[in-house]
Amino acid sequence: MADCLFCKIVAGGIPAKLVKRSDDAVAFHDIDGKAPVHVLVIPTRHLAAARNATGAEGERLLGRLLAFSAEVASELGLDAGGYRIVTNTGADAGQSVGHLHLHVLGGRKLGWPPG
Ligand code: 5GP
Ligand code: ZN
Repeated sequence: MADCLFCKIVAGGIPAKLVKRSDDAVAFHDIDGKAPVHVLVIPTRHLAAARNATGAEGERLLGRLLAFSAEVASELGLDAGGYRIVTNTGADAGQSVGHLHLHVLGGRKLGWPPG
């Protein structure tokens, strides 16, 4: 999608600190990390949010993104201490970029519930 920040990161038009890449997902460090590890995992294909990942292919993609996020967390050394994977959807959740992304947060004790 031409005007989408994360599509531009996928295409390499905007630089990002890459962590891992697969055929259908990219993981990169959040520009404004809220924890010692704060990585964003996004599909290479533009989808606005989790609710837009519909049908069998959408379900498969969500599964792959979750598994990919767990691999990223493991590779960044978070298995021992634990971590959180979360995706914000819509205004009340504070979604600020309209391209589906999973936050992988770890490296410190995380509060619950989120604010
Ligand atoms: P949201 O608030 O939509 O759940 O998360 C969007 C995230 O994208 C935020 O944590 C924000 O810091 C991050 N972000 C926004 N712009 C950029 C950017 O240009 N590069 C990177 N790496 N992260 C960004
Ligand atoms: Zn996009």
